[in-house]
Amino acid sequence: MSRPAKPETTLVVTATERLSPTMIRVSFRSEDLSAFSASVFTDRYVKLAFDEADGPVLRTYTALNPSVEDGTVDIDFVVHGTEGYAGPWAAAAKPGDTLTARGPGGAYSPDPAADWHLIAGDETALPAIRAALAGLPPTACGYAVIDIPAPDHEQPLEHPEGIEVTWLVTGDHTHHAAEDAEGHEQPLVTAIRGLKWLDGRVHAFVHGEAAVTMHGIRPYLLKERGVPKADLSISGYWRRGRTEETFREWKRDLAEAESA
Ligand SMILES: Cc1cc2nc3c(=O)[nH]c(=O)nc-3n(C[C@H](O)[C@H](O)[C@H](O)COP(=O)(O)OP(=O)(O)OC[C@H]3O[C@@H](n4cnc5c(N)ncnc54)[C@H](O)[C@@H]3O)c2cc1C
Repeated sequence: MSRPAKPETTLVVTATERLSPTMIRVSFRSEDLSAFSASVFTDRYVKLAFDEADGPVLRTYTALNPSVEDGTVDIDFVVHGTEGYAGPWAAAAKPGDTLTARGPGGAYSPDPAADWHLIAGDETALPAIRAALAGLPPTACGYAVIDIPAPDHEQPLEHPEGIEVTWLVTGDHTHHAAEDAEGHEQPLVTAIRGLKWLDGRVHAFVHGEAAVTMHGIRPYLLKERGVPKADLSISGYWRRGRTEETFREWKRDLAEAESA
């Protein structure tokens, strides 16, 4: 069954700002962000199209602070080296540059009726974590854990007083050992396992490098802690050593293995 095409809009860069050694905020203006008017999810994302000779290459990014009225939206890009399309594009972006965006999609916003919240991920998930924390009621409690390569990657982050925020310094992501599920150290997994489990119903949002989230954290939450699937938003946002295209194959294989 074919899905309806997502609305497309042209985004024009208005400003860039370095948020940390590896993150750049690119602010955009658009003639028409009306596709966002019905968007209620804090993890709302767009597919950015990078034109190549044999067609557009799509990359997925969280759309922050969309204002339909002003036609403005921000995207915080992790700049992860010279490989790929989106990271290098963001590193060189300047006012007047344009991109096509499709969307938004999205699936999660924090449930105000939950007893507590567990919100975690690496820098690719930080924009969605930022939006989730901003979407919580002031009385919300729980944890936010953000995996960063070095202490100077910490960023100002507003959050309810009852949310304990941990910036987990795990070393250079191109070297540290969160490679797979089998025996390698996965600092974010260890950190989440070490949190004092609170009483009542948790609503969880955990995204980032796919082996860490899907092999490391998901079994802990679903099997060991018995979190119902409906209360858990978890996925890989990227996969070490794979481009977004080959990562899609990894996701397909995982889904097939699980349904076998
Ligand atoms: C719903 C969703 C929302 C996302 N939101 C954001 C966001 O707001 N900001 C953001 O920065 N990313 C976000 N991502 C992740 C982003 O889509 C990927 O990092 C993507 O692969 C980057 O594309 P690229 O063209 O730069 O690199 P690709 O061409 O996909 O990959 C080239 C190489 O770079 C490696 N690589 C890719 N990403 C990283 C990384 N972060 N760190 C180290 N190495 C990497 C790949 O493994 C590969 O070896 C999101 C992903 C999803 C699914």
